[in-house]
Amino acid sequence: MSTLLAQASDEAARYRAYGPRHIDDIAARYGLPDDVAETVRLSSMVLPFRVNQYVLEELVDWQRLPDDPVFQLVFPQRGMLNTEDIKRLGVLAGQTDPAAKRELRRTVAEIRAGLNPHPSGQMSLNVPRLEGVELPGMQHKYRETVLYFPGQGQTCHAYCTYCFRWAQFVGDADLKFSAPDPKGLLSYLADHPEVEDVLVTGGDPMIMTTDRLRNHLEPLLGVPTLNTIRIGTKSVAYWPQRFVTDHDADDVLRLFENVVAAGKNIAVMAHFSHPRELETDIARRAISRIRSTGALVYCQAPLIAHVNDDAAVWSSMWRTQLSLGAVPYYMFVERDTGPHDYFKVPLAKAVTIFQEAYRRLPGLARTVRGPVMSATPGKVAVDGVEDTPQGRLFQLRMLQARDPRLVGRPFRAVYSDSAAWVDELELAPSTPPDIGEAFLGRPGDPGAGTTDADGRSDV
Ligand SMILES: *Cc1c(COP(=O)(O)O)cnc(C)c1O
Ligand code: SF4
Repeated sequence: MSTLLAQASDEAARYRAYGPRHIDDIAARYGLPDDVAETVRLSSMVLPFRVNQYVLEELVDWQRLPDDPVFQLVFPQRGMLNTEDIKRLGVLAGQTDPAAKRELRRTVAEIRAGLNPHPSGQMSLNVPRLEGVELPGMQHKYRETVLYFPGQGQTCHAYCTYCFRWAQFVGDADLKFSAPDPKGLLSYLADHPEVEDVLVTGGDPMIMTTDRLRNHLEPLLGVPTLNTIRIGTKSVAYWPQRFVTDHDADDVLRLFENVVAAGKNIAVMAHFSHPRELETDIARRAISRIRSTGALVYCQAPLIAHVNDDAAVWSSMWRTQLSLGAVPYYMFVERDTGPHDYFKVPLAKAVTIFQEAYRRLPGLARTVRGPVMSATPGKVAVDGVEDTPQGRLFQLRMLQARDPRLVGRPFRAVYSDSAAWVDELELAPSTPPDIGEAFLGRPGDPGAGTTDADGRSDV
């Protein structure tokens, strides 16, 4: 039964993806308790599940199930779906007649629809146009940066259970999120000299072969107004072989060197959720090899209950990043999609975790900012909590804004123990009118939060 997995881990250097079809093999090989395996089996009918031999062999601590943070990061868990739904799936999955199969498909679709699969609903707000025509695979929200989604880079080496792009991994693709080639981007950049920075994202662009990645990146090197290419990726955590032992690992390093030689800055925006992802030799070698090309490595991740909702975890992760020559960049607040109730961390707790971790850092690691929400008007940081004659307030700040005049501006909202996103907050009465307007027109209504694809709550 588990020959398939055994083989794969023997030739550890060749990437193999495992999905719902391999759960029995994984359970047998790593001794998953029956009830845990059953939960994974049923939940993965609804939620995306993909893992590989490196994550299984090197990152998951099988002695600590089900609480192990990496197990929580990649395996669907009890509590992500409600008990009723799990029961319904269990009953239907046990039946073989065609009617039950149809009913199972219907049930899966219905449960998915209930999980806010498209928090990016209004993202047409940020879709760039050329002569009135929408350009696919791009987003332009902040003046200086365009997000670019290469069509062949829309999966990942493993899936995070908290991913806000989860719907696309279960076959519910939004085609706006993919560009076949960089032609549209090149025309757009020619038309928009204010864009200095292209953030290549996905999925995970590093899932592409180097040849494909090169086809997307090299044409950008001739754009005089472009200074920086960023690549959002979780590959250093999930498949560091990409930069070390894959057949085209050296080629990707040459590609990065070419970008630098062309006078452009290249930055790998690496998604690390837990310090364990930085402990393996190969992950460290990957970072060192990336840096040796002249590329910079910035690190970011969302704050996730059951995975990393602990100040000591972040502090240790940021220190390790610094010691490896990588720059701690963003701690994101998780957005409202998928099993959000399972993962969410209230803002009040998030800001405490951030501050506690930040206080322990050496100065050079205090490049990190957070906790940050990527909301409709922009990126909002929660800077702290203060007691005022008007009551307890959150101190907030726009780190990025669709309207560049709002960048850097502080504002306040009424404190709440439980609010986990900006749209659950009430802006303070003193909120400046332009900020209040950006959050849907009036103070007291910060408005719909999760409406754009961001430069990653993650990679
Ligand atoms: C976060 C983000 C960026 C990049 O913002 P930086 O603060 O420059 O890292 C760009 N575009 C979108 C849509 C984003 O959400
Ligand atoms: S969070 Fe990033 S790495 Fe994780 S599944 Fe989503 S896109 Fe892939």
